Amino acid sequence: MKKFSFYTLGCKVNQYETQAMREAFIRAGYIEANPLDRADLYIINTCTVTAKADKECRRLIRKVNRCNPAAKVIVTGCYAESDEDVLGRMQGVYKVIKNNAKDSIVDIIESRKDMTDSKVIGYTPLSVSGFKDHSKAFVKIQDGCDNFCSYCKIPFVRGKPRSRDIDSTLKEVRQLVSSGYKEIVLSGICLGVWGKELRGPRELPDIIEKIVDIDGDFRLRLSSIEPANLNERLIDLVQSEHKLCKHFHIPLQSGDDRILSAMNRPYTSKGYLGLIDLVRDKIEGVSITTDVLVGFPGESDSCFQNTCDLLEAIQPLRIHIFPYSRRPGTMAAEMGPDIPRGIIKDRARRLQALAVEKSHEFRKTFLGKTTNVLVENERNLSDGLFQGYDDRYIKIVIKSDAGRCRGIVSVRVDGVDSDHTWGTII
Ligand code: SF4
Repeated sequence: MKKFSFYTLGCKVNQYETQAMREAFIRAGYIEANPLDRADLYIINTCTVTAKADKECRRLIRKVNRCNPAAKVIVTGCYAESDEDVLGRMQGVYKVIKNNAKDSIVDIIESRKDMTDSKVIGYTPLSVSGFKDHSKAFVKIQDGCDNFCSYCKIPFVRGKPRSRDIDSTLKEVRQLVSSGYKEIVLSGICLGVWGKELRGPRELPDIIEKIVDIDGDFRLRLSSIEPANLNERLIDLVQSEHKLCKHFHIPLQSGDDRILSAMNRPYTSKGYLGLIDLVRDKIEGVSITTDVLVGFPGESDSCFQNTCDLLEAIQPLRIHIFPYSRRPGTMAAEMGPDIPRGIIKDRARRLQALAVEKSHEFRKTFLGKTTNVLVENERNLSDGLFQGYDDRYIKIVIKSDAGRCRGIVSVRVDGVDSDHTWGTII
């Protein structure tokens, strides 16, 4: 029996696609090799969001080939989409498979099927029945993006927005819930535009309402929503539906209007703050997490200060900080002046300090309150400590003398410091 092994980089969508491909190999009689085991087949599911991701993909290909020259290396994912020739010429690479051919990966490797042409047409039908090494399951329902933020390569490698049908989504969620998954994370490349191209047309709350109607003890988290796609209907649904996590991940990228415009982001700093105020007015204790890009071409000290000032007002639970990475073929790649790496590093460090401070402030508002935590590590970390996330995406370290706890447990928050939130099972 042939053995396979996956390396996955990037976002929740890529991780979902790896799980779907993993299950296809297992159905075809392959065995998944243990991490230290040698495999006959290595599949590298690549990401190309940053130059660093590209470099990491190439490093993995060389490493796999060096450690196991007899094995076949398959490269797929977004880097394979944009740089098929470069990757195809690397030593040890047996095949480069495009994103829209991931559903046929076994047939292609076994030469039962040719690579479909690279033109992305409909939604690639993939499905999962579980999620290896995860206590929560990502469910992909959307692919592609046509927002063309000026720094982003994704629209070029994922194509136009395409939506998954409701029936296959509900079937998959039912299966995952009946298999014991307590949290479903709804994912997409640009999740908020789900349904726009479908007949009707439809919008994201339409499919969410169907999912939360599924019987079972589970919660639903939205992976990320662009500001332009967050409307009152969605906010009201999250407010009113107990299965929906009271957490929004809303990428900001910059707090400066000139930079936002150069990024081709369709909102202003005032507009973004207004949206956060609306969400906070409607949903008590809702948490906001966000993405910020530092060092975009032309970002002056005052532009950066505008970003810090806006984050002060937003008080996010978490800030994902991305140092700017020039991506070939994007509009921003032609923009300037470049910000020196040293300044980018310094700004990222200052944002990280601000992120810790804001997170601490937000988490302190939950002291003494009760929340529901999905336990991620079942076995004692040490001294009867476990950890998991609550529905607001607060990471909580749980004290329990039960020796084992799993699933969703009710916890009283009884300690918050700059790095941790502590809770006791009640
Ligand atoms: S919304 Fe913007 S940043 Fe996100 S994938 Fe689309 S183009 Fe890229």
